[in-house]
Amino acid sequence: MAAQPLHPFDLYAIDSLLTQEQREIQATVKRYVDDRIKPEVAAWFEAGELPARELAKEMGALGLLGMHLEGYGCAGTDATSYGLACLELEAGDSGIRSLVSVQGSLAMHGIWAYGSEEQKQQWLPGMAAGELIGCFGLTEADYGSNPSGMRTRARRDGDDWVIDGNKMWITNGTIADVALVWAQTDDGIRGFVVPTDTPGFKANPVHHKMSLRASVTAELVFEGMRLPADAIVPNVRGLKGPLGCLSEARFGIVFGTIGAGRDCLETAIDYSISREQFDRPIAGFQLTQKKLADMTLALGNGMLLAIQLGRLKDAHQVTPQQISVGKLNNARTALEIARESRSILGGNGITLEYPIIRHMNNLESVFTYEGTNEIHTLVVGEAVTGISAYR
Ligand SMILES: Cc1cc2nc3c(=O)[nH]c(=O)nc-3n(C[C@H](O)[C@H](O)[C@H](O)COP(=O)(O)OP(=O)(O)OC[C@H]3O[C@@H](n4cnc5c(N)ncnc54)[C@H](O)[C@@H]3O)c2cc1C
Repeated sequence: MAAQPLHPFDLYAIDSLLTQEQREIQATVKRYVDDRIKPEVAAWFEAGELPARELAKEMGALGLLGMHLEGYGCAGTDATSYGLACLELEAGDSGIRSLVSVQGSLAMHGIWAYGSEEQKQQWLPGMAAGELIGCFGLTEADYGSNPSGMRTRARRDGDDWVIDGNKMWITNGTIADVALVWAQTDDGIRGFVVPTDTPGFKANPVHHKMSLRASVTAELVFEGMRLPADAIVPNVRGLKGPLGCLSEARFGIVFGTIGAGRDCLETAIDYSISREQFDRPIAGFQLTQKKLADMTLALGNGMLLAIQLGRLKDAHQVTPQQISVGKLNNARTALEIARESRSILGGNGITLEYPIIRHMNNLESVFTYEGTNEIHTLVVGEAVTGISAYR
């Protein structure tokens, strides 16, 4: 007779590593994702559409936007709680987690950490509530892994700034009310807070994506875009600014990818127990059990890594290299789990009736954005050798 199956995380007693408050926050986000996101997300993915404004308001009301920032209407939770929220959102879809990451960790964090008091007062409360949506423009078509070469340029004209250039692959780009744009100046790379109704600002949707279809992706075009002197973000100079924001967002990805992986593995386990071939559940075949056991270890180990990084971040001790370890390991792990889980579902694994192929396609983007798999590999390589292999 078969014993009652355990959840993969029970083998690690993951809950014992979390506080009561962290578990409650996680449960609240999971309920929202189960009730609101999971029933609809396959249709959004198939249509390549997202009710982003509605969702932003709902997630703002839940306190998920800029969740770990202090003040200005933000919830001010610890970093681990923010990570757990990302995990549950990405168990729904990486596109939903991307909406929240870009809003909270890239756009809001950039203004919060480097902006003037006026910029913070003007934008952060509305963004925390989900009334205003933000985007983050760093990448250009010809400068992805190497943003230091960016061509977008801001020049002074009297007291004003005038920006010309393009950004590519910008999440939330066509729906944003405000863009945090990084541009070259005579003083190096600087950030600018750009209301998207500024004359000279244009956002064009990126079509034909096969990944992150339930997420808005855009090209931004700036033509003689004139901004007042106080549009510049005053408190950071150079790539340190955007890289600081990216560290925040990558931290969310460390947890988020575990959510996508967990959803795939749970689906594969349930399916393998109910699906029969040769008159027995496919879960009873040793090859299937090896896949499930390997995925259980990979997922559990990735979760332990995420929790360790959460603890370091909450102690204000986490380094960018440690976040690279987490992003590298967990994005790679989640993608491998998605592919292996897909095989367990056989033909059913390729349809949107089950979440796995959607997660798998989404994770291809997550593998590449916020620092590619290769760049994070080389960051870790540099950390342990002292020799940079990528620049
Ligand atoms: C869906 C999606 C959403 C995104 N959202 C945003 C956003 O909101 N804001 C934003 O600014 N950007 C965003 N990006 C951009 C993303 O961060 C870049 O795509 C990423 O940094 C890679 O840049 P690239 O696509 O130009 O690839 P490239 O940099 O051209 O890389 C191509 C390949 O070359 C490899 N490579 C490059 N340099 C080296 C090296 N030195 N050594 C070894 N290998 C190397 C890469 O690892 C990769 O495998 C998004 C991207 C996607 C796909």
